[in-house]
Amino acid sequence: MDLFYNSTRDSKVRVTASQAILQGLSEDGGLFVPEAVPSLDVSLKELAGMTYQETAYAVMRRFLTDFTDEELKDCIAKAYDSKFDLPQIAPLVKAEGAYYLELFHGATIAFKDMALSILPHLMTVSARKNQVKQEIVILTATSGDTGKAALAGFADVPGTRIIVFYPKDGVSPIQEKQMVTQKGDNTFVVGIRGNFDDAQSGVKAIFGDMSLKEELAAAGFQFSSANSINIGRLVPQIVYYVYAYARLFADGEISENEPVNVVVPTGNFGNILAAYYAKQMGLPIKKLICASNDNKVLYDFFQTGCYDKNREFMLTSSPSMDILISSNLERLIYQIADQDDETNRSLMRALTEQGRYEITPAMEEKLSDFYGGYGDEKETAAAIRSLYESVGYVIDTHTAVASCVYGKYQKATGDETKTVIASTASPFKFTRSVMEAIGEPVDGTDDFELADRLSKLSGVQVPKAVEEIRTAEVLHNTVVNVDEMKQAVKGFLVK
Ligand SMILES: *Cc1c(COP(=O)(O)O)cnc(C)c1O
Repeated sequence: MDLFYNSTRDSKVRVTASQAILQGLSEDGGLFVPEAVPSLDVSLKELAGMTYQETAYAVMRRFLTDFTDEELKDCIAKAYDSKFDLPQIAPLVKAEGAYYLELFHGATIAFKDMALSILPHLMTVSARKNQVKQEIVILTATSGDTGKAALAGFADVPGTRIIVFYPKDGVSPIQEKQMVTQKGDNTFVVGIRGNFDDAQSGVKAIFGDMSLKEELAAAGFQFSSANSINIGRLVPQIVYYVYAYARLFADGEISENEPVNVVVPTGNFGNILAAYYAKQMGLPIKKLICASNDNKVLYDFFQTGCYDKNREFMLTSSPSMDILISSNLERLIYQIADQDDETNRSLMRALTEQGRYEITPAMEEKLSDFYGGYGDEKETAAAIRSLYESVGYVIDTHTAVASCVYGKYQKATGDETKTVIASTASPFKFTRSVMEAIGEPVDGTDDFELADRLSKLSGVQVPKAVEEIRTAEVLHNTVVNVDEMKQAVKGFLVK
């Protein structure tokens, strides 16, 4: 049976999976959602014997129904290969009674790789299916992490090019080095003299420039986005929850159909929404525990039913969760509004105009699967330190937010259900904060030296992603003013 996707702002919009992937966002500004979440059609016993790639196929084929078996298998094989440093792709580590699902074994050692390594392939297949003859040009503004993960995913993928804009003085030295050393003839990295918002607005303006669009179409190019609201990023994220559950069963850690909790360090609400979809597919998940840092908009939302972004933006040691508008939440809002686009539209309008909205008590009742918690900077650092001191396992700052929230949840509820914690980044990606949390001196030490010390004390090898940039050659050195971004795009595409 074919599955179609609707826009959260206009239920009458109905597109195939490949069209949703190509478009990214619906023209009405809505996000694409499946008409109904499909169920898993393989047994747990079968899943228990599957590799990550086989699990990916079993899950994704239910969502991407207009892909042929061969197309989907090919995308999966190209994505989950030796770019990952372990054959399990997403291993589970048991520490202090919880199961840490390590989602950071890909090219950029953070969980964005789980989806961005397959999105380029899903996109080129989608283009072929929809008779798009042009080359796909991915345009991205980044504050650091997403840019590198998208570059790594799209590098040398035939039929695509990728252009990344980053604020020249607004990313960490390691993040910048990661990007400007990116290989691949189809990659283009540009620093801008401005901040992240300038880069973001510049990209939006380029997307909205109709005469540029026509000019580039004539030259054989079409813009697209690798943004986290693309359904092609969400669907691959469902896979690892199913995989983790099947592994726990296969390893005898849980019995058949035993419920587990899932804790997810959350920013844009994509990762936890994938866990929610996994639950709706039939995976026995009990609570979805949404962990926030000091930017605790989501915690307040689950507490009160009011989403309010009118507050001070906090810079924390878990920067990938420093977000006040969690874009993917709109998908959940649409669902708990019984897929009523009118209700969703008015709430999203309120968010744009007043910066806040309030859901009805009936909608709130449908959130009982979720539990919101948060950890402040001190609690997060303490979580890293205590886990290290008790069992020698080192987690990154984002995962630590989840770990700390899980501790608070257990205290508050007494719930002893077995629990999977999504571990979203390698501690080597946030070495400085991690070493500080452990109580190691960091002043006057560069990040590579810190990585070597972290390796010694954790017994974990410095990941390839860090080793590589230590000595890598700078391949991109273009820096432009904000008003020169459009020209830079043209310069790269039309030689
Ligand atoms: C992006 C990111 C998150 C937040 O994930 P969302 O899907 O945006 O909620 C958490 N941790 C790390 C390390 C990330 O890169």
